[in-house]
Amino acid sequence: MLYDAHCHPAEVPSKLGEIPAMDATLCVMSTRPDDIEHVKECSKFPNVIVAFGLHPWWSYLLSTGGSKVDHYQRVFTPAPELEEIESLPEPMSMDSYLNYIKQLLVNEPTALVGEVGLDKAFRVRINERLSRFRVQISHQRLVLERQLAIAQELKRPVSLHGVQAPGPLFDSVRQFSLPAVCLHSYSGSTEFYTQQWSKLTFPVYVSGAVIVNMPNQDKAESLLKSVPEHLVLSESDYGEAG
Ligand SMILES: [Zn+2]
Repeated sequence: MLYDAHCHPAEVPSKLGEIPAMDATLCVMSTRPDDIEHVKECSKFPNVIVAFGLHPWWSYLLSTGGSKVDHYQRVFTPAPELEEIESLPEPMSMDSYLNYIKQLLVNEPTALVGEVGLDKAFRVRINERLSRFRVQISHQRLVLERQLAIAQELKRPVSLHGVQAPGPLFDSVRQFSLPAVCLHSYSGSTEFYTQQWSKLTFPVYVSGAVIVNMPNQDKAESLLKSVPEHLVLSESDYGEAG
C-alpha cells in the first residue's frame, strides 16, 4: 500500500470522484476557505485522511479585529495604499474561522491539522495575480500558533509548511506538545533537523515531494541519511486526484 502524506486533490473538485479507485491512501490537505468544503467531502472515501487548517499564504484573510484598512496596514508589508485596500477581500474574523476549523476536527476524529506553517518567500496572490505584498511573519505566527493550540488540545498530528523561516517555525512548534508533526517538503538543512527538530519530545516526520526536493539531489540524500527511516514519509504535494 502506498501512502501519500501530503497532497491537494481538492484543488480540482471535479476529479475528486477518482480518489476511491486510486491504489493509495491520501492525506488530503486544506489550505483556504475555498477548498475546505471539498476536503470535507473527501472524508467519505475510505482511502482518505483529511486535514483541516489555513495555509500561511492565506493567513491575511484572518483578522484579529478593527477595520479592513487597519487590518491590511497591520498585516501586509509594504503597507498598502487606501485604493489598493479597496480591491482586497473583506477579512474574516480569526476567532470564527478557527472555531470552524476546530469544529471540523471535532467532527472528524481521525483528521489532522494541515496545511499550516510559515513562509517568508511568498507574495500574496490577489485575483490570480502576484501582488507586491508579503504577510508579516508575526501575523503568520499568530495564525499558526492558534492552530497548533487546537492540535494540542485535540491531540492531532500536524502537517507543516516551512519556507525560509526555519528558526521562527521551530520556535513556534517547540512551545507545544503534539502527538507528531510532519515537515512537508522539508527544505531546511540536515543540521537543523538533527540539532533542533529531532530533539523535540514528539516524533518529527519528514516528507519529500519529488517536485520540491529533488532539484537538489545531494541535499535530499544527506537528509535521508540523517533522518531515521521510520520518520521518513512519502508525499506528492500534487494538486489533482487520479
Ligand atoms: Zn502542500
